[in-house]
Amino acid sequence: MSDLTRLSAAALADALTSGQASSVEATQAHLDRIAAVDGAVHAFLHVSTDEALATAADVDARRAAGEELHALAGVPIAVKDVVVTQGLPTTAGSKILEGWVPPYDATLVERIKAAGLPILGKTNMDEFAMGSSTEHSAYGNTHNPWDLDRIPGGSGGGSAAAVAAYEAPLAIGTDTGGSIRQPAAVTGTVGVKPTYGGVSRYGLIALASSLDQAGPVTRTVLDSALLHELIGGHDPRDSTSIDEPLPDLVGAARLGANGDLTGVRVGVITELQGEGYQAGVQARFDESLELLRSAGAEIVEVSCPHFEYALAAYYLILPAEASSNLAKFDGMRFGLRVVPEDHPTAERVMSATRGQGFGDEVKRRIILGTYALSAGYYDAYYGSAQKVRTLIQRDFAAAFEKADVLVSPTAPTTAFKLGEKLDDPLAMYLNDVATIPANLAGVPGLSLPSGLSDDGLPVGFQVLAPAKADDRLYRVGAALEALLENTWGGPLLGRAPELETR
Ligand code: GLN
Repeated sequence: MSDLTRLSAAALADALTSGQASSVEATQAHLDRIAAVDGAVHAFLHVSTDEALATAADVDARRAAGEELHALAGVPIAVKDVVVTQGLPTTAGSKILEGWVPPYDATLVERIKAAGLPILGKTNMDEFAMGSSTEHSAYGNTHNPWDLDRIPGGSGGGSAAAVAAYEAPLAIGTDTGGSIRQPAAVTGTVGVKPTYGGVSRYGLIALASSLDQAGPVTRTVLDSALLHELIGGHDPRDSTSIDEPLPDLVGAARLGANGDLTGVRVGVITELQGEGYQAGVQARFDESLELLRSAGAEIVEVSCPHFEYALAAYYLILPAEASSNLAKFDGMRFGLRVVPEDHPTAERVMSATRGQGFGDEVKRRIILGTYALSAGYYDAYYGSAQKVRTLIQRDFAAAFEKADVLVSPTAPTTAFKLGEKLDDPLAMYLNDVATIPANLAGVPGLSLPSGLSDDGLPVGFQVLAPAKADDRLYRVGAALEALLENTWGGPLLGRAPELETR
């Protein structure tokens, strides 16, 4: 078969089922690709060659024995390093977890293993998922495959870059404020943040528990639907997991692919466009709207007046929850322990460990969160932020009365240069203006490529749906993907420059 790394996950799964290729061949092809390009991209923190090939061989043997297998059995996958994997190092991009090997699997990893997907390795990320560029990783930058001098987005830049560079057909990300969707946007890939509670958080190293959600990173909308169905659904080990069956996501993606959106109301969010959005980003967004209209969708304008305060509320709620979640990294239980030479009391060990183990951005947010939660300030900061959150939820509820899905550009700009925003936290935070409202309200969101900006870099188109209506993302996303690829004559990633291999 021709290059197995260039196939979508669905096409690769077909090739495996029909016997055109084996999982060992497919897995080896991706491991070879990682060896050839990851020196330049640095999407992976750990590559699990032996484990991946063992899973692949097992799947091939079971297939040969005529066993009924999962649709994605044998298709390799990469997992963001914030998700715990039994026997594989898990660092969350932090020095404080260097060398930690979890004794158990996250629920979503259990499901991936049970379905027989070889895990290629763990992907790079901003430390504890704080960031929009992957530059806050304690283990070095990931580079955007479209231009190695640019950021791959964050915090899940490793997963997005791995998929964009054909190192993996599928990857897992996590999205607390945009860390699946924004990296997808700037790398020309597809990323989905499911409804809060739609995918188990058991075994995710928590950043902000009321916002975190894991989801798929892929090259096509259908692939995201396939992976979402595999990892999603109720888990009794997560108290916020939704105890209902998932909607038919794969069915919705297949329905959408016929390109007919007659009767679907698409709401354009007034507050998430125009000023502050790069001209090429806005232009691709407007063209995509025209395509949706041509497919029969009714385009309406909706206003969400409180979105203006989303970023401010997020940067109180997130640090508050993070400061509490990160308290457990104390040098006693996991990973790093720094013992000062004189008077190594428990308190001094904790302080030395946290001082050396955490990077600047993590410290900044712990300090901010501790302050916001302190006596006398709690109501003024955390309390007010929670009220804003309610107002944003009401904006969504009102908007979804007028529209079946809401749309916006995923990020205000294309990928910026490495180093450009590293010393300016506020500029970094602004990347997430369009993605954060969905996390605050718990609604699902999808980003898919909508073309190249004037700078030749990919632009993301965001689709949002009401909670538990994730199927709508896939229907509208697949329709737009089909219409766009018709006009481009193939997938957008086909236009990315070829990476040098070694
Ligand atoms: N960039 C956002 C932040 O820094 C989002 C992070 C995320 O989704 N994990 O908090």
